[in-house]
Amino acid sequence: MNLPYAESYKIKMVEAIKTSTRQEREEWLKEAKYNLFNLSSDKVFVDLLTDSGTGAMSDKQWAAMMLGDESYAGSSSYTNLKNSVKNILGFDYFLPTHQGRAAENVLFSVLVKEGDIVPGNSHFDTTKGHIEFRKAEAIDCTIDEAFSTTVLHDFKGSVDVQKLENVFISYPIERIPFIIVTITNNNAGGQPVSMQNLREVRKIADKYGVPVIFDSARFAENAYFIKTREAGYADKTIKQIVAEMYSYADGMTMSSKKDAIVNIGGFIALKNKAIYEKACVYNIMFEGFITYGGMAGRDMNALAQGLDEGTEFETLHSRIQQVAYLGNKLKEYGIPVQEPFGGHAIFVDAKRFLQNVSAEEFRAQTLAIELYLEAGVRGVEIGAIMADRDPITRENRFPELEFVRLAIPRRTYTNNHMNYVAVALKNVFDRRNEIKNGVKIVKEAPILRHFTVELDKI
Ligand SMILES: *Cc1c(COP(=O)(O)O)cnc(C)c1O
Repeated sequence: MNLPYAESYKIKMVEAIKTSTRQEREEWLKEAKYNLFNLSSDKVFVDLLTDSGTGAMSDKQWAAMMLGDESYAGSSSYTNLKNSVKNILGFDYFLPTHQGRAAENVLFSVLVKEGDIVPGNSHFDTTKGHIEFRKAEAIDCTIDEAFSTTVLHDFKGSVDVQKLENVFISYPIERIPFIIVTITNNNAGGQPVSMQNLREVRKIADKYGVPVIFDSARFAENAYFIKTREAGYADKTIKQIVAEMYSYADGMTMSSKKDAIVNIGGFIALKNKAIYEKACVYNIMFEGFITYGGMAGRDMNALAQGLDEGTEFETLHSRIQQVAYLGNKLKEYGIPVQEPFGGHAIFVDAKRFLQNVSAEEFRAQTLAIELYLEAGVRGVEIGAIMADRDPITRENRFPELEFVRLAIPRRTYTNNHMNYVAVALKNVFDRRNEIKNGVKIVKEAPILRHFTVELDKI
């Protein structure tokens, strides 16, 4: 018999979580204006809102925290992190920031101006937010396969090279400051980008003379998929694969809260000194001095260690197998999910799940609400609410894909929790035909509205 996979760690410290009754959850959700972001965490049993900053640090990371150097300038923690970035990712220039969107804010302050066009693959919401905030436009060049949840494709997150080339043909080159490649492609379902695709994007960038930036939150999961799916990489280590991936990039923005397994942090890394020097000015304005950028010394130490652990095969294998475990359970119950499964989350296809609720009534949000009411499980809407209004017409945007994302924190829950979540969703699925009414927006912010939106049941 084949041995099953088992977690590559054992548990040294635990944290209590609480169950609740359906009646309690109904009251809490009403008070929260049907926005799951408004719930306090003690009202949630299994929290799959995000895998961002919610992972469990290792004993070695906690030990590294104790050695944090809190000097304002030139701390040893900064040097540790700078060395880790150089050794694992290969960049000479690096700036710490307090999280990923801060890295975007600093770097885009240098690179993006009004009227610019930034092509990429399904720009993440904060990335798009930082582009549109500067009155520039994000053009999505993701391959068409990504927009179907049933088409099987090993690298569904990839850039469509023809669509990318068309952007360069359609717009003057001065308006295209860089290409951004999101690895893994979060909004398309945590889907990876192949090495072949990264190479092709590099070729186009060289042809037109623009830099390539990797939005890198889940770069290690991307490397895992390259190792396990792409010809020629099975015998390479994750760190070797990561090194090749970044050989095709000019720079990166990083949310360390994902694959670097820390609770807060981010950074920018660059090969170009001139861009780095300009970014330093904005880093000092927005984040802090260039050797801490909004991070405590102890947090930089934990991050340096996390980058190393996060790029070990065993860590990634445990994690991605757990995500697949939940995905397979849901599939067994007939629940429509994005396939192949992504690296960090299972994306439940709300369009196919809730066929009696229209896009206008925000069916993905409706499904997230039903799952919470059923069992205290918190997922997140990746659908029409998150898509925001069109910045020019102010009309609601209705994306082709509408998901409830069940993001799995790293090293945090057991497979028994996954069983619990799967049964909760099955119960909602069994009564899906009775769910006919969605929600309407009562109050919303002009941008990134999903965090604070207030809703009411129809
Ligand atoms: C999380 C994330 C970001 C933003 O990072 P924060 O740390 O949340 O600010 C940017 N891009 C991608 C792909 C992400 O997953």
